[in-house]
Amino acid sequence: MSDNETRQWRLASRPTGEPTDENFELATVPRPEPGPGEVLVRTLYLSVDPYMRGRMRDAESYAEPWGVGEPMEAGVVGEVVESNHDGFEPGDVATGNLLWADHAVADGDELRRVDPDLAPVSTALGVLGMPGITGFFGMTDVADPDPGDTVVVSAAAGAVGSVAGQVAAIAGARVVGVAGSDEKCDWLTDDLGFDAAVNYDTTDDLQAAFAETCPDGVDAYFDNVGGPITDAVWGQLNRNARVAVCGQISLYNATEQPTGPRKLGQLIQTRATVEGFLVGDYQDRWGHALERLAGFIQAGDLRYEESVVDGLENAPDAFLGLFEGENVGKQLVRVGERE
Ligand code: NDP
Repeated sequence: MSDNETRQWRLASRPTGEPTDENFELATVPRPEPGPGEVLVRTLYLSVDPYMRGRMRDAESYAEPWGVGEPMEAGVVGEVVESNHDGFEPGDVATGNLLWADHAVADGDELRRVDPDLAPVSTALGVLGMPGITGFFGMTDVADPDPGDTVVVSAAAGAVGSVAGQVAAIAGARVVGVAGSDEKCDWLTDDLGFDAAVNYDTTDDLQAAFAETCPDGVDAYFDNVGGPITDAVWGQLNRNARVAVCGQISLYNATEQPTGPRKLGQLIQTRATVEGFLVGDYQDRWGHALERLAGFIQAGDLRYEESVVDGLENAPDAFLGLFEGENVGKQLVRVGERE
């Protein structure tokens, strides 16, 4: 690749069921040049996220489908190479919605500056970025636990879940996490201060596991996964419980529409409230969430982890790993180093 070229991943074809390497294509293209008001960014880290599976599908959703043959978008933290925007100069670190690429241009108005002295710049894609903000608002505004409440969080060792659970603990709740390995469960209870954790992969009777870990029932459930885990948590909901539906990753590769919701009957007896939410709806309050999250980190109340895969060429593997639970905390791809 020459200096005036760049690599970018494109959607080669739409997957049926679980995506494979064949759905992705790495192209070498001329390096883009920034137009008026635009900024050329060299990628340092790019974020792979479960919602991207929805963008591979040709179906209406809250995020536009990617076109076959088109470059794929991603949250990126990068270094400004060239700027035609007053707010940025070469060497600045910026974050925004760019591409699975070594370089990309964006409208400077759509980028946010990242202060490299405040925290490692990669956190702008995780705990101090979209996933952290999702965990924060989903817990404070939707699940909204009172002190002493029992809160269950699924995919608790992931980017969103690990923040959501710790925010609940900061609010004084008793927090039970669900994750797919003993190592993850130990991380939740030993390092993040969760009160208990359920390894759904080695538990035959999830109902019994939640009955045991939540002896006073469940007052709030932060759902990242759907499917059998959610079915089992619903069996323990207390009267007036709140369910914050954040994600349904167990269903993202489904080839048929799932039947259900299967447990609606339980809402009658419990008078529980189930509410879906999207982090984008909180855009005008992102600054508030970032301030609170940074404060929690500084106070030692919020810990985070990042799983980093090296090399743009390995971005599809990093993405596919999300569905196998390979990540602890935020899954990132390191594409370049700061100069
Ligand atoms: P994570 O970092 O949590 O990564 C995904 C995790 O999901 C994996 O590590 C894996 O952990 C778990 N998982 C994968 N497949 C299954 C399965 N079949 N059953 C149970 N668990 C599974 O990703 P994010 O934190 O980025 O996202 C978490 C959820 O939040 C996703 O559903 C995502 O779509 C949603 N989301 C929603 C937003 C909103 O605005 N509503 C914004 C951002 C994310 P394990 O080893 O424990 O199985």
